[in-house]
Amino acid sequence: MPEARKRALILGDGAAGTIMANKLRFHTDPSQLEIKVIGNSVNHYFKPDGVMIPFGFKNHKNSVKPTKSLFNHGVDYIHDTVTSIDLENHSVRAGDTGEISYDYIVIATGDRFSTEDLPGYNEAAHHFYSLEATLELRQKLAEFKGGKIVVGQASIPIQCPPAPYEFTFQLDQYLRLKGLRQSTEIHYIYPLNRVFTMPNVSSFVEKLMEEKGIMVHKLFNVDSLDPVSKTLSSLEGEQVPYDLLILVPPHKGQKLMTDSGLADESGYIDVDRNHLNYRDYDNVFVVGDATNLPISKAGATAHFESEYLANRIASEVSGNAFFESYNGEVACTTITGGQEAITLFFSYSKPPRANFQSKSDYFLKWTSSDTYFSAMLRGIM
Ligand SMILES: Cc1cc2nc3c(=O)[nH]c(=O)nc-3n(C[C@H](O)[C@H](O)[C@H](O)COP(=O)(O)OP(=O)(O)OC[C@H]3O[C@@H](n4cnc5c(N)ncnc54)[C@H](O)[C@@H]3O)c2cc1C
Repeated sequence: MPEARKRALILGDGAAGTIMANKLRFHTDPSQLEIKVIGNSVNHYFKPDGVMIPFGFKNHKNSVKPTKSLFNHGVDYIHDTVTSIDLENHSVRAGDTGEISYDYIVIATGDRFSTEDLPGYNEAAHHFYSLEATLELRQKLAEFKGGKIVVGQASIPIQCPPAPYEFTFQLDQYLRLKGLRQSTEIHYIYPLNRVFTMPNVSSFVEKLMEEKGIMVHKLFNVDSLDPVSKTLSSLEGEQVPYDLLILVPPHKGQKLMTDSGLADESGYIDVDRNHLNYRDYDNVFVVGDATNLPISKAGATAHFESEYLANRIASEVSGNAFFESYNGEVACTTITGGQEAITLFFSYSKPPRANFQSKSDYFLKWTSSDTYFSAMLRGIM
């Protein structure tokens, strides 16, 4: 008797959900596995371009594609919002669709901006973490005539930890090109006692900041901001006034995960770091920014995790044993200014080394939206 066709359900249609679905389709026989994705985005925005678009270094039109066009043949995409998850009964509910059952579930719903955690944020701060905010910031920068710009992040964790320093280097470059660098002070605030989470990358970045005249405020954990006096205050008691505040908003996991009992108040889901299972459920997995894993919340992480998990589910579906584990491997290219970038390779056990920056790495970064939409999202790399 042939085995019944299994059902894989992927929640979330961003980087992790799309790569996961497309890779899994490549690895499995459609007669053995049905793949459904439920997601509620209309457009898929390539967020790394947020460190280029505000300066006119890239046109945002090349950074967006309709979400539904990004799934490979054989993936059933449902545009809807998931409202509850019931692991015991192997089912989820979604707005218009109602109940959907599964054999395997992969949660890839990313995280959200919790601006409610920082009163005054919406009136006072700008950011480059969504397309809408990035386009507003582009306008704000076009009107900027010099003064004091404060750049940083409201808290940890955030998506793509290097993005604030990448943005700051691009800002420095942009102001130089516009002839405004002499009349502008750039202040970079960071919550830790360094300028980046990973110590040896931090020392590399800090040296570059010093060379470029960027003023650094370490151990600056944002406590409050005052939109009237235009001042940012830290828990440590420091106050920094600003003319333009560019602050990455506080992040949390999705509230749905807290409400469904899968996560605590943080909204991030606790998973086995080597197997990506939720607790002892062997059919429940989490990938991408939705996890509480200590490695970077990055598209590159989602890519490596999906590679591992697609192989694992495919082996199970076809009745083969699978003994591999995910070792936290990630590779990502980050901009260091002056049209240069460094590529960082790391894993759970191997910290990254910031050896050298190059123009070819910058080119790699500049063209990465093309690689992303044509190959990475499609699951062919
Ligand atoms: C400025 C910036 C620069 C970055 N640079 C890099 C970089 O250089 N390299 C890198 O690797 N990464 C980078 N990243 C990080 C990368 O973009 C994210 O880590 C990646 O998008 C995470 O993918 P995800 O699928 O987990 O989450 P997302 O891409 O956020 O996708 C989550 C999806 O789930 C959907 N969803 C959420 N809740 C529900 C629900 N209840 N029902 C249905 N659908 C739901 C959402 O609509 C969304 O489409 C950057 C991010 C930013 C903001």
